Amino acid sequence: MTFSPIPRRATHQVRIGQFLVGSEHPVLVQSMTNTDTADLEATVKQVYELWQAGSEIVRITVNSPEAAAQVANIRSRLDQMGCDVPLVGDFHFNGDRLLRDYPECAQALAKYRINPGNVGKGTKRDEKFGFMIEQAIKHNKPVRIGVNWGSLDQSLVVKLMDDNAKLAEPLPVEAVMREALIRSALDSAEQAVGWGMRPEQIILSCKVSHVQDLIAVYRELAKRCRYALHLGLTEAGMGSKGIVASTAALAVLLQEGIGDTIRVSLTPEPGGDRTREVIVAQEILQTMGLRSFTPLVTACPGCGRTTSTVFQELAQSIQTYLRTQMPLWRLQYPGVEDLKVAVMGCVVNGPGESKLADIGISLPGTGEVPVCPVYVDGEKTVTLKGERVAEEFQAIVDDYVKTRYAEGGPKRRETATIPLKKI
Ligand code: SF4
Repeated sequence: MTFSPIPRRATHQVRIGQFLVGSEHPVLVQSMTNTDTADLEATVKQVYELWQAGSEIVRITVNSPEAAAQVANIRSRLDQMGCDVPLVGDFHFNGDRLLRDYPECAQALAKYRINPGNVGKGTKRDEKFGFMIEQAIKHNKPVRIGVNWGSLDQSLVVKLMDDNAKLAEPLPVEAVMREALIRSALDSAEQAVGWGMRPEQIILSCKVSHVQDLIAVYRELAKRCRYALHLGLTEAGMGSKGIVASTAALAVLLQEGIGDTIRVSLTPEPGGDRTREVIVAQEILQTMGLRSFTPLVTACPGCGRTTSTVFQELAQSIQTYLRTQMPLWRLQYPGVEDLKVAVMGCVVNGPGESKLADIGISLPGTGEVPVCPVYVDGEKTVTLKGERVAEEFQAIVDDYVKTRYAEGGPKRRETATIPLKKI
């Protein structure tokens, strides 16, 4: 695993299943199912797919007795399949009753997510929230106190708005709303600690749907507490909009060392793949140099010098191949996630970029001899040509992985990694 060159914010450290979260521990990728948890088969299948794609924590909705009754079965089925991904239960209005009535559900989950704005109103709210915290303490589970813009505690908002109105120079409404989010999270955490929960059992999140709000809220939250933080832009949207907005927000915060788990809340295209959000989250962390998950392909954008779509097809096919191999390669070839492959469209930048990668190929541009030099560890090795360039290049990549990353294999070129610095 590549360690981050970015100093991380010091936090309480939280155990979620087999993982430790916070401070210098790697930022973990989380995702969430969209199946009915009462549907055992569908939920197990989707959790497994998310885990196979690289999700390290998976959240499932626990919204009904039928759903709660299936959680332990989902856990044991996943265990039988060799899938040890920690499951997080998402609880709202009836979470207290479900945790009370289904202790095997409470035990099977690795963490409870509680939204303090969706627990109840008035004195009922404290009673129900307190009971859920009590259950987490009893079962020795961490909680995420997850505040959401869309379900903010209205009594707190009203109080802060009233206080603000009395100021000589009232703050803008957005600033008061942000403060309400932060206060809701911090006050709820303080209550939980007051009831006996250890700070090492608490993760906070304050999700909003606008980039600037998210950055402002988390910067402030990070300043005012030492709790580990879960990052995510809620309702990020679909396709490139969702990806760009999530990346813009998360990258700024991660660069400042803020964030211990992340989720990219993409709306899947109709019939689209839920695992897309996992890949995007991994790519954010990997392209920032925070972690490595899958070998990434460097490819030029192509221009008027590219003669055909061959180079685009090759870049795509080799990236897909690397990704599909990873569930197996991760186990067989430790370190393979750091492999760098380059696919370039012509001789202008092709050889240079190819030499910088572990394996690179430069395809012929307009007017160039129709051959494809391949570079391995910076040295030109073979020149491919003809119809089978893609298959032959894939075989070279395969061979490189098997020889270089197998235990006791030849030493790879050293790549500079900066050790993690604690702050
Ligand atoms: S490497 Fe060649 S084909 Fe690719 S963008 Fe640069 S000039 Fe164009």
